[in-house]
Amino acid sequence: MALFSFLAYAPAWGTPQARPLTHRLEARLLPELARIDVHDIIELPKDFFQDVPQDTPPVLELRMARQVEVLQAVLHAPAEDGAPRQIAVPVEQENGRLRLLLPEQAAGGELHLHTRCVFQEDVDEAPANMDNPGFGVEGVIHPKGAMLLAGSGWHPVSAQPNGDRFHITVRAPAGMLAVTTGTLVAFSEADGESLSVWETMPVLGPLPLAAGWWEVQESREAGVRVLTCLTKDTAALASRYLEASARWIRFYERLHGPYPFAQFLVVENFLPTGYGFPGFTLLGSAVLRLPFIPDTSLRHEIAHCWWGNGVFVDYSQGNWCEGLASYVADYLGEEEKSPDAARDYRLRTLRRYAQLAAGPEDFPLARFASRMSPATQAVGYGKAMFVFHMIRTRLGDEAFWNALRTVYREWLFREAGWEDLRRAFVEHGGWDEEESRRFLQQWIARPGAPVLALDAVRRQRRTFADHDGWQVDGVLTQQEPAYALPVRLEVGMGNAVVTRTMSLPQARAAFSLETPGRPQAVIIDPDAHLFRLLDPQEIPATVDTLKGSATCTAVLGAGVPPAYREMLPTLLAGISQPRARIVEETSLQEADVHALGHRDLLFFGQPETPIGRQLLGRIPALPEAAATAMPDVHLLVMHGDHADMPRGVRGLVHLAPQASAQAVSRPAFLIGHYGRYSVLAFREGQAVFKDTWPPGDGGTVHRFTEE
Ligand SMILES: [Zn+2]
Repeated sequence: MALFSFLAYAPAWGTPQARPLTHRLEARLLPELARIDVHDIIELPKDFFQDVPQDTPPVLELRMARQVEVLQAVLHAPAEDGAPRQIAVPVEQENGRLRLLLPEQAAGGELHLHTRCVFQEDVDEAPANMDNPGFGVEGVIHPKGAMLLAGSGWHPVSAQPNGDRFHITVRAPAGMLAVTTGTLVAFSEADGESLSVWETMPVLGPLPLAAGWWEVQESREAGVRVLTCLTKDTAALASRYLEASARWIRFYERLHGPYPFAQFLVVENFLPTGYGFPGFTLLGSAVLRLPFIPDTSLRHEIAHCWWGNGVFVDYSQGNWCEGLASYVADYLGEEEKSPDAARDYRLRTLRRYAQLAAGPEDFPLARFASRMSPATQAVGYGKAMFVFHMIRTRLGDEAFWNALRTVYREWLFREAGWEDLRRAFVEHGGWDEEESRRFLQQWIARPGAPVLALDAVRRQRRTFADHDGWQVDGVLTQQEPAYALPVRLEVGMGNAVVTRTMSLPQARAAFSLETPGRPQAVIIDPDAHLFRLLDPQEIPATVDTLKGSATCTAVLGAGVPPAYREMLPTLLAGISQPRARIVEETSLQEADVHALGHRDLLFFGQPETPIGRQLLGRIPALPEAAATAMPDVHLLVMHGDHADMPRGVRGLVHLAPQASAQAVSRPAFLIGHYGRYSVLAFREGQAVFKDTWPPGDGGTVHRFTEE
């Protein structure tokens, strides 16, 4: 789970055309009406119109939501002879832009702008998948709370980003609090209303706003003020989130540099989001309750305080911050467990890329903006994470982390692109200039991944000057267009290995290695340190295989009780196949064996007809350990057997005869969350067994046959 970040802070600066404004903003949330009323008092600097030519009427351009209703715009002009004057200001409104036609006396005055805006959306509080964490909603106000993303336009902001400052007071029904980015001045109550008061540094763009019925708890354990804003149903989790937040803030302060905001808040959302904003994270209620979140998603969001919300992304070069946040949070989390766990994470990343992104859905990292689908996640998070891993592997730990610290120090609250990161790794990490340019060209500007293989591998016994041994010769190959790669080769000799890192600058490179013992296998990149396209044989069939399938078709088993049939669409939505065709097993005909046989098929219910059974093919038995758990529901995903005809992947959701509707509906909802597994078993809605088939050898492994 990992998420968007939003630009907000910028250093104080202003171009002559767009001087920074100061806003004293009073907002009132009316959750029952899905409405927010904003009274913004904008101070116009004395030199505001300095560059406006004579005879040109001064205009102030602001951005707000398209649907905003402007109630009143009045200029309080500076007093000329003791009495300030109030002058009505005409407003032209078009497509989210407000043009305020100011009178000439405006400079040095105050503009009072009254607006109201309705944010009403039908939102799914429990979507089946989280491919698009915002599900397209920019702003919603609801009796349960409010989520107004920066792009929603809930408040006025200068049309050109320019370092406006805000003093914000949000009034809401007593008990409902509001959070935005900036420094929390106070939460309080007065006259039956709650007040949330915030102060910002100069900001580069509009601000997000979240509101809810929260209890607030606080800790200063990290040396940084940490708060939780949780509803009373989840308030018991506050101490865990306070402790974990403090721990991760201290961790990244040591790794990257000082935490850049006044405080950090963990904020509960009534929608199932996981968002990171400058200084706070907005996590859905159900997400917060998952036991692993404090050490996974929370850590990832806190890492965004340095990368994405601290150092901004120059989106014109592609979004790198998801890759870096994934690397320093999700990946390092695995590395802290063990080298094997880290290797597994890298392999899973390669599998997801091969299954979900490689092919027509692939795109260069230079074009990644945000996660919209399994494919964009596999590239924008997974491949980008690997890019940082390859740089670190190349430069070594000290040079890599030092260069990142320099990036943070030099680019905090400024937009950096891949090119700026590259330059920092050259200047502060000792990376060769030319090599780094080619690296960026092949990994960022280009889509795809190298396809590596071994060719003409042979071994022979040799007598060397002072000892007997073996020599292994072969050719390392890659498909065009070629990458420049350092490739690790391993020759296994039973109990021992010989490894060599060689450079592969073009399509082919010959190698020759001496080994003391009899070679048994040659393996390319055995520990998966390189980003590459895995051979299909290297990828066990898993739930992700079905997610990435272009031909996924569901077969509704003849024996599935009527009450359970409606769970199939939920299951399909959960595996990102909401539009997959559903075929009734009872309607299958002889011709379908050929018509459907080459497709990827997901059987919902054990097939009971001869044609259904033929289409499913031979399936492995449920592993003993899973069977003894007596599951209500189990799932097997496997590559179809190729004996008689080409076949796609086969998935079988087996429903035990005694399984209750509840015991079936929960797994139908959950299966999509277990993407990396080939076998899943559920009992009473809980996963009691999960496993992945062992991968096979692809073209990157050569095993010598014993003569
Ligand atoms: Zn993220």
